[in-house]
Amino acid sequence: MSQRILVIGGGVAGSVCALRLRQHGLTVHLVEKESFPRAKVCGCCIGGTGLSVLQRVEMGGWIADNAQATQTWIGSLGGRSVRIPLTTGIAVSRERLDMELLVRVRESGAVVHSPVSANVDSIDENRVGVILKGACGSEELQDYSAVVLASGLNASGSKRLLPWTELPHGPFGASFFAKVDGLPTGVIGMACDRDGYVGVVRLEDGRVDVAAALSSGASQRGNGSPKQRILQILERSHLPIGSVEVTSEVMVTPPLRRSRLSGTGRLVAIGDASGYVEPFTGEGMTWGMMSGYAIADLIADSRGDFHSLGQRWCQRQKRLLGSRRRTCRLLTTILQNSVARFGAAQVLSRFPSFARPLTAHLSRPVD
Ligand SMILES: Cc1cc2nc3c(=O)[nH]c(=O)nc-3n(C[C@H](O)[C@H](O)[C@H](O)COP(=O)(O)OP(=O)(O)OC[C@H]3O[C@@H](n4cnc5c(N)ncnc54)[C@H](O)[C@@H]3O)c2cc1C
Repeated sequence: MSQRILVIGGGVAGSVCALRLRQHGLTVHLVEKESFPRAKVCGCCIGGTGLSVLQRVEMGGWIADNAQATQTWIGSLGGRSVRIPLTTGIAVSRERLDMELLVRVRESGAVVHSPVSANVDSIDENRVGVILKGACGSEELQDYSAVVLASGLNASGSKRLLPWTELPHGPFGASFFAKVDGLPTGVIGMACDRDGYVGVVRLEDGRVDVAAALSSGASQRGNGSPKQRILQILERSHLPIGSVEVTSEVMVTPPLRRSRLSGTGRLVAIGDASGYVEPFTGEGMTWGMMSGYAIADLIADSRGDFHSLGQRWCQRQKRLLGSRRRTCRLLTTILQNSVARFGAAQVLSRFPSFARPLTAHLSRPVD
């Protein structure tokens, strides 16, 4: 019997997964609920590890022609400015990157259904039943041999079958585009203080992406709207930038920290749909793309036997991302403490090379 694999979600995780599945010659369907191009809350930066995954799905040439290289990270923390050179990295708008990936998924021979939303209805010994809902309200039940849930932070598509192991909590994300005076091309600016942290970077089309993780405690609510809070953090910062003019709507996310069971039977979750820590290390897309690539290989290696795919994926994903997620959690915990922020700023402003092991860790290519 022919095996049909469904990927739910056409973000970076879902599209890389679909492309890799097609490289293995498998029959792939991908369902995306939005009409592309679509914007999303993101800092839009990708380091060496993420780039190595994009190269493996033949995106290297497109990245070289269309993304903006980043060479320097400037942080404002503990009342000081810290400048750290970056070895490899790019900034690229999510509208363009995700659109390009989805076009390539279609060109690779996968069947793309969009705008259509999917919801996993049931799993049994032989198939996963999924309800597909079209934009006009039409509904149909389809069977698939295995399903990859890559539906992002909102984690829609299968809340019931993959329960939370850590409920969403902690800071929430917010972003907009802006005109920012004085921000050089190729620089990632990051302003950190008690209310959260804000990243700014100039994209390939000249717009500046402004993305933040804002504390969600009760004491922070009096600080104003997400837009006001972001502008205040930038104003208090020591980043070498001038005036900031907001040029788009402000998008926000639910609380960011969460994790869930990432697989059961023939159903697996990847990317933000399987859990997230925080954006501080700028790795969310990388984690999603690494997972998309790795689950596609696991599906191909399964040779049609998907009974224990979910269980095997839980173990594989832990090995793949465990240390990266722990490092990110540790750094963001340190950052919340004002004394630690001050100490880190003192050391790094004098000895930026102390950050080299961390930047190397974040940029190491996938095995
Ligand atoms: C403030 C902030 C800054 C960040 N900065 C960075 C950064 O600089 N670098 C970085 O690497 N990461 C960053 N991230 C993280 C990054 O944005 C995410 O980790 C990444 O987008 C996850 O990709 P994904 O494919 O899992 O999910 P998404 O990109 O969210 O894609 C999920 C897709 O699934 C679709 N979908 C949802 N439900 C359904 C359904 N039921 N049926 C069909 N389709 C569905 C959605 O429409 C969406 O297109 C940041 C995050 C935040 C909050």
